[in-house]
Amino acid sequence: MKKILLGMTAVLSLLACNNGSQNQNPFLTEWDTPYGIPPFGDIAAGDYIPAIEAGIEQQNTEIDSIVNNPESPTFLNTVLPLELSGEILSKVVGVLYNVCETDRTDELDSVMEKAIPMLTEHEDNISFNKGLYERIAKIYFADQSQLTREQQMVLKKRFEAFERNGIGLPEKQQARLREINTEMATKTQKLGNNILSESNAFKEKFGISVSDYPNAMTTTEDRALRQQMLEAYTMRGHNGNEFDNRQLVIDIMRLRIEKAKIMGYANPAAYLLEPKMAHDTETVDAFLSDIMAAAVTKAKEEVYDMQKLMDEDIAAGKLPAGSKIEPWDWWYYAEKVRKQKYDLDEELTKPYFKLENVVKGIFIAANTLYGVNMEKLEDVPSYNPDEVTTYKVTDADGNFLGIFTTDYLPRSSKRGGAWMNNVREQYVDVRGEMVRPIIVNVGNLEENLTIDEVQTVFHEFGHALHGLLTQCHYPSVSGTSVKRDFVETFSQFNENWAFQPELLAQYATNDEGEVIPAELVEKINNSLKFNQGFMTTELCAASILDMKWHELESVDGIDIDAFEQKVCKEMGLIPEIGPRYRTTYFNHIFSSGYSAGYYGYLWAEVLDKDIFSIFEASGNVWNKELATKFKQTFLEKGGSEEPMILFQRFADRMPDNTAFLKGRGLK
Ligand SMILES: [Zn+2]
Repeated sequence: MKKILLGMTAVLSLLACNNGSQNQNPFLTEWDTPYGIPPFGDIAAGDYIPAIEAGIEQQNTEIDSIVNNPESPTFLNTVLPLELSGEILSKVVGVLYNVCETDRTDELDSVMEKAIPMLTEHEDNISFNKGLYERIAKIYFADQSQLTREQQMVLKKRFEAFERNGIGLPEKQQARLREINTEMATKTQKLGNNILSESNAFKEKFGISVSDYPNAMTTTEDRALRQQMLEAYTMRGHNGNEFDNRQLVIDIMRLRIEKAKIMGYANPAAYLLEPKMAHDTETVDAFLSDIMAAAVTKAKEEVYDMQKLMDEDIAAGKLPAGSKIEPWDWWYYAEKVRKQKYDLDEELTKPYFKLENVVKGIFIAANTLYGVNMEKLEDVPSYNPDEVTTYKVTDADGNFLGIFTTDYLPRSSKRGGAWMNNVREQYVDVRGEMVRPIIVNVGNLEENLTIDEVQTVFHEFGHALHGLLTQCHYPSVSGTSVKRDFVETFSQFNENWAFQPELLAQYATNDEGEVIPAELVEKINNSLKFNQGFMTTELCAASILDMKWHELESVDGIDIDAFEQKVCKEMGLIPEIGPRYRTTYFNHIFSSGYSAGYYGYLWAEVLDKDIFSIFEASGNVWNKELATKFKQTFLEKGGSEEPMILFQRFADRMPDNTAFLKGRGLK
């Protein structure tokens, strides 16, 4: 649901209808605020649903007038007004999603409960609008040479979205697709709930949540207990009780296979990969198997280091003779190796990474690289005036780029984790005026940050820069609206600067004003390579397992355990390591949108490290010329060009995993 624009008549009549009613709904007015920031203080929970209703009506009117236009379809009379349609909805959704994640209340929960089905139904109505599809298909199949590249990309994205919903299929198959989608929705939800129940059972049994599992496995000395925890953790969804997911996995895969075949693909992976940067199963399979080979080689070295420490425990009489490293020993002995080899005490680094200093660090890096300036704004509307800070972002010439808001502190009404959010996209409006984005970075951070959290702040700001520096025309391709296996490239790329000595010298100071010592910096950089054989192996193994499931063309006669065993054997997994997720609790791929997509984390990291290696090879990671080229090639372009073309434009070659493997210490 993106931007919009309003046939002027529809807007005026909406506004007119509202005149005279007690309080004007803020979403139905022009926002006469600084920089068009939403008037958060004027918005009440009761405003959302009426505004969504008005927004749906507005967009329906707009789409009707596109579809009923007697002129033959063109980009300007069809795709453009569609891109600019739904202005009210964009405003509502931008604000609502933001506050629901950061300041949820029971009232907002019930708003969401009503809003989601309304919005889903509205989106479905658009994606199954035959008249709209036919106009877009006509433009798509006509000569496109008069269109700009960005227009071609918008058109392609719109056309493919329709096609992938099956709108071009015969009625009977469309009806079957709808049945499949409904059945799948029920089954994936059930599978996800089962994982939740099983994870709760795990917590009840061991007193720790599944998210604390790695930590518990690291610190629990009792070997038998570690074994029990590992077995319970990896058997979730596989216990023959009411929460068993085995049959559900088979049912879901059967539906996905049927759907892929109806859509004309050999298997679900082929269907799911087509709109991604990686594009096909051969590419992803080859990509993963190269990484797997390097990761397992390194993991074997890590086992060797750990076995030496285990042998010391055997000699000390703590373990029986002949004990070997088993999967439940990995975290525990890895930590011992870490202490011995890397000796990084985060209590010593934390004083140098005060949150406000790290924020200073991300701003200095962006200024040095891209000439971006941040100016703190007072007295602008804000959704949480006590805890968020708002900045005006300008480029080196003083041009306005957008609004950036930080919201890093934890509070009980905020969901966990860290993320970037677009309250407003960047685009050129119906009057030809540039609309600049409003971007939020959210976290749950304490006063002093761990190494991991420092990376998180740089990561989310990388997404923010992608959102802020964009120079596109159309909202559906601007900013971070890029292919899913491409979007993390820019957040991860920004992490490369976090621990560069020249930058640390400018931001990593303690209360006494002393800069972090070089010796600690070296330890930080070494520790980032720690245990990467294991980490990469389990991540890559889960990615391969995901691919193998989705490359199936039939699930007849498939036994989950036998299938997993076969896949693990073929990928060369060593017995000390399992995939990060086993099938019956692999929520990402069976219940949350990463189907044949889990490889994306590794894919984006390979791109990010490869791009960064070009900066390193220049002899100066702060190379201004390269940074400008990076900004112009990637950050300004959003999804207005194919990612691989952008990559080649920047690197003058295809991507290569060498820098990734070196960065993880695997080569
Ligand atoms: Zn990210």
